[in-house]
Amino acid sequence: MSFMNIIKRFESFDFEEYFKSVTNSDIQKSLARDHLDPYDLLNLLSGKAQKFLEQMAQKAQKISLQYFGRTIVLYAPMYISDYCTNYCTYCGFNSLTRFKRTKLSLEEIDREAKAIHDMGICHILVLTGEAPAKTPLSYLEDAVGVLKKYFSSIALEMFPMEEDEYRTLKNAGADSLTVYQEVYDQKIYKDVHLAGRKKDYQYRLLTPERGAKAGFRAVNIGTLFGLGEPRSEAFLTAIHARYLEQKFPDVEVSLSLPRMTKAKGGIEPKHIIDDSSFVRFMLAWRLFMPRVGINISTRESENFRDKLIYLGATKYSAGSKTDVGGYALKADDSTVQFEVTDQRSVEKIARMIRQKGYQPVFKDWEII
Ligand code: SF4
Repeated sequence: MSFMNIIKRFESFDFEEYFKSVTNSDIQKSLARDHLDPYDLLNLLSGKAQKFLEQMAQKAQKISLQYFGRTIVLYAPMYISDYCTNYCTYCGFNSLTRFKRTKLSLEEIDREAKAIHDMGICHILVLTGEAPAKTPLSYLEDAVGVLKKYFSSIALEMFPMEEDEYRTLKNAGADSLTVYQEVYDQKIYKDVHLAGRKKDYQYRLLTPERGAKAGFRAVNIGTLFGLGEPRSEAFLTAIHARYLEQKFPDVEVSLSLPRMTKAKGGIEPKHIIDDSSFVRFMLAWRLFMPRVGINISTRESENFRDKLIYLGATKYSAGSKTDVGGYALKADDSTVQFEVTDQRSVEKIARMIRQKGYQPVFKDWEII
């Protein structure tokens, strides 16, 4: 059974009605349980759980300390191409946006990698737009070969691939995969993905499974908050993560909570997720899945990221640039995929983590 079968079960579920029916007593019972079922998750995601935030935070912090200790893994993103053949209405890299597109040569990848490595980063997330003809498997394989010289962990965020293709990249040295469904609501998915391979909801939905089967040690998924109704999106994302944890017990599963901001030429977010709702979702996820990793990117502000350390976050990006060649080759007119809000250096973020009594972890994996 694939996750598509599970998604189908929720197609007729009336989320709005359920959230309306949640009572304080339901939330208290869910909070008291050690092992939460999907209804407990719904209870904690509901707006009524907002007044139980302090209790949720205390329990989530305890669980996070048990499973992760006082550690935050640091990584940086590296964009190697912004060519894209898809038309996602919310993204500035979409195929209709006119700007000078770039793809790094292997020599340029080497220079970027060295610059990131010199910042102290050992874990890299390599990104491309989705244009397989521009960034074919052979190019990606060679890119991973270059990156291996500098980094102990290489995660990929690229166009969805077949299992065999992922296996090729794993054998080249990549160890992790990031793929966001962007929005689990199938109708909205169709409305915001207007051209290109990304139109295929099911193919994208099953991508994390193909990556896990190919042998990646870690898979990171997420929804882009702002496109679909946030509580049901947070719910389906977590159900997806639990499915992956159960089906692939050897794979480290993690979640991201990117909040959509308006991109140049892109649509406005349909839903605004305020900080307290963001925290509620994150805490509900932690209580539902004690082992899941939670990534917080530099889309979020300094102050907010500093506070999330205590609440179950496990992984932070640091020193991020979101344009191609942003670390060592930057052109003045380069286009970013999203604006970085927390612009602190790796060193400053590591210092902040230490000041909070946590340990910044630069390396927890070695490519053999
Ligand atoms: S979200 Fe990804 S696939 Fe969609 S337009 Fe942007 S870069 Fe391309």
